[in-house]
Amino acid sequence: MGKFKYSLPRGTHDIYPGADGWEHDSIRWNVLEEIWRDVCRIYGYHEIRTPMFESTDLFKRSIGDGTDIVNKEMYTFEDLGGRSLTLRPEGTAGVLRAYLDTSLYARGGVTKLYYINEHFRYERPAAGRYRQHVQFGVEALGTDDPAIDAEVIQMMLAFYRRAGVTRFTIKVNSVGSTESRAAYVAALKEFVAPYLSEFSEEGKARFEGNPLRMLDTKNERELAILANAPKLTEYLLDDERSHFDAVCGYLADAGLSYEVDPYLVRGFDYYTKTAFEVQSPDLGAQNALGGGGRYNKLVEDLGGPPTPGIGFGMGVERVLIALQQLGVDMPLPPGPTAFVVTLGDSAKKAGIKLLSDLRAAGIAAEIEYGGRSMKAQMRSANDSKAKYALILGEDEVAAGTVQVKNMVDSTQEAVAIGEIVGRLS
Ligand code: AMP
Repeated sequence: MGKFKYSLPRGTHDIYPGADGWEHDSIRWNVLEEIWRDVCRIYGYHEIRTPMFESTDLFKRSIGDGTDIVNKEMYTFEDLGGRSLTLRPEGTAGVLRAYLDTSLYARGGVTKLYYINEHFRYERPAAGRYRQHVQFGVEALGTDDPAIDAEVIQMMLAFYRRAGVTRFTIKVNSVGSTESRAAYVAALKEFVAPYLSEFSEEGKARFEGNPLRMLDTKNERELAILANAPKLTEYLLDDERSHFDAVCGYLADAGLSYEVDPYLVRGFDYYTKTAFEVQSPDLGAQNALGGGGRYNKLVEDLGGPPTPGIGFGMGVERVLIALQQLGVDMPLPPGPTAFVVTLGDSAKKAGIKLLSDLRAAGIAAEIEYGGRSMKAQMRSANDSKAKYALILGEDEVAAGTVQVKNMVDSTQEAVAIGEIVGRLS
């Protein structure tokens, strides 16, 4: 319940300046967005913005009918025209739909796109798990070159490092192809069948509906049984194995320490070959910072020409939670250059004029409205982290000067009002 009449929908949050929880602080969000856009510039990715909702069929077709997202977590509604629409639960499907719709695919070559997306999933809210969350992500379309698999993984890490995340684990796996997976799934089912009665209801349902997802369990009993299960990597076809070896080679060349996790499977059916996840020990139960993988059949499944692709998504809230846990703050933007403080009516008029002259010259400048005492205004100047307080009283107006107080070393001098903009530029 909110304090007033309406409350926030369950599992959502407001992002506003100076929130105590860093994942709710818009100032830190803005810094992360800047870092993200800069990383994308350095790696040569351009932004794509797609609608927040798409036709329900697009997600069913791409994410897969047997997945938790499609079965239990989608915000699906009928619009007034009777169409079934869904708030996007992930980023890849919409980007690929747009890649085809806008004919980006027809430009040929490799298309490298990034996004900043709100995603919606009807999950049970918990620390680090929301019903609306934001992901920074990329999709690189048009090549199966294993070097680009390593590029996107490095790009993710470049972002985490720049943001200040110092502790993480990189897990990589190959989930093969439809063909190799079919052989593996048969072997996995054969292995699990004698133990099936010991599995949870959810485990049993996965055995029937989406056997690979059995590997993603957190149930201790199931994990103990599965520890001896066959591994997907043993079933890879030659091309898949050499692709995976090449990816691992590039990662090693880049000096990255990564773990091969043969049981890493992700919550989407569309992955082929490379799958990866970055985990943080500072996140508690929801320990995934971000993840992604290759999807070489997806463009074709959506009606396009055969086009290999790879991408990832990183949860932004979780980066901020991890940073707060680590106690590592990113460099926050500075306060304004100037804070204008006035006493009396004529000083206020002169102060407002000075304020607009400063701003017109591109100098960040603030004032406190509401006519509070000079002491209160000086406190606000201090709280704003301004470099200089520009103080105007009746005497200064009469003399055509301003008291310029350096807020760092507390020195103060009188400067002619006409010279202020030049001094602070
Ligand atoms: P996924 O699209 O499931 O691969 O998720 C990619 C990343 O998005 C995860 O590693 C998380 O960091 C983040 N994420 C996924 N689901 C949620 C959620 N419900 N709330 C907050 N972050 C999420």
